[in-house]
Amino acid sequence: MQVYNSLSRSKEELRTIEPGHVKLYTCGPTVYNFAHIGNFRAYTFEDVLRRALLFDGFRVTQVMNLTDVDDKTIRGSLAAGVPLKSFTRPYIQAFFDDLKTLNIQPAEHYPAATDHIPEMIALVAKLFERGLAYTSEDGSVYFSVGKLPGYGKLAHLDRENLRAGARVAQDEYEKESYGDFALWKGWDASDGEVVWESPWGRGRPGWHLECSAMAMRYLGETFDLHTGGIDNLFPHHENEIAQAEGATGKPFVTYWMHCAHLRVNGEKMSKSLGNFFTLRDLVDKGWSGREIRTVLINGHYRQALNFTFDALDAARAALARVDECVDALGERAAGAAPAEGVPVWAAEARDAFAAAVHDDLNMPEAFAALFALVRGSNSALHAGALAASDAAALLALVDRMDSVLGVIRFGRADRAAAVPAEITALAEARAAARAAKDWAGADRLRDELAAKGWEVRDSKEGQKLKKL
Ligand code: AMP
Ligand code: ZN
Repeated sequence: MQVYNSLSRSKEELRTIEPGHVKLYTCGPTVYNFAHIGNFRAYTFEDVLRRALLFDGFRVTQVMNLTDVDDKTIRGSLAAGVPLKSFTRPYIQAFFDDLKTLNIQPAEHYPAATDHIPEMIALVAKLFERGLAYTSEDGSVYFSVGKLPGYGKLAHLDRENLRAGARVAQDEYEKESYGDFALWKGWDASDGEVVWESPWGRGRPGWHLECSAMAMRYLGETFDLHTGGIDNLFPHHENEIAQAEGATGKPFVTYWMHCAHLRVNGEKMSKSLGNFFTLRDLVDKGWSGREIRTVLINGHYRQALNFTFDALDAARAALARVDECVDALGERAAGAAPAEGVPVWAAEARDAFAAAVHDDLNMPEAFAALFALVRGSNSALHAGALAASDAAALLALVDRMDSVLGVIRFGRADRAAAVPAEITALAEARAAARAAKDWAGADRLRDELAAKGWEVRDSKEGQKLKKL
């Protein structure tokens, strides 16, 4: 598999440290609010990456952190007048619910920053030992970027601009104003009750420190792959590298992958700009998780994606076409064992799909291959040219593609679950009427279902409901 490595700024063949096993760290949410769909562009990209690795036969150990202490969570908990943990807990739960809605596979570990303060303190202690950390007047600890020769290699910083001793206290800042960054922030009144003891006095960890410490705790000092949105590249990931490599003297991560932003009218979707939708906003408007997922993943991850409702409409129509084909193949296959091979046109779609996945996760091409398979299947079905075993083999191929895309199968379950109880009851009454040979009663019930927007079809396996 070829991936674009932000470190080398080129596509490289993915080679893991341990054969067949990818260790992956994905920066997770800051849990001070509901995640917006811009954040979910990053998490769905990472989910596609994870699924692509599994598709290729790798074992994956994925860590996604929960940032439950930083400037934003502290501000939120103070404003709400509740302890930090009580403030973040519901947002953590909401985040996990949202992952399910989008059919995002769970990571192996979800460490929370507040549960790993000792690891963070130990990391800072190592940086002191190596002469890379120093304390400031206000009780904070800073990383001395001028003392680490490799500082700036990810963001390609111009080290000429480095002003000795210049410091930045905030977690987020621009490339132009880089300087020594805070590892540990000395307590001040705006932190309220959020405070830990350390050898350098009372305070709390900087955001960057959290990720380096938790990544190494779960994946080791050197691991394969680290990802995030492009806004994480600097300063967050640059500083993660500095802390880890400064402490261990070993390379931290082999491949860095970053997804471009989800935009609205040409601007980054973000909470600070106020131009965002949460996943819940869209679900409340009637969009399903898989429609939203399709929009988020059906663009190349390295290109900015503009969010529009037209794109959601298009995803709905496209998924309906796929559903219909999958249903028709299912009826044709009627439980038959899959044939050994597939027809030539299907093998071409299969190969095109794999090539797209292997080419740095080219999802537009991967979707094109799925649609080619759907078109070919439809023609073959209409021509009556498919044996049951061929239909079963094509279905298996669709499922294999969907193991990466993740938009079909959970949809099938969605649709089954989405039949309202009243409709199921009417359908059951109709089945009972038919069993009793009450044809007039059965027809009346069929009309009633149609009036409520549902079509019943009779098949060998019993009746099937379809939304009109
Ligand atoms: P945060 O909770 O702000 O730390 O962000 C969580 C993840 O979402 C990070 O990987 C960010 O880079 C990513 N992210 C934030 N906004 C966007 C956006 N508009 N498009 C894509 N990714 C984003
Ligand atoms: Zn991070």
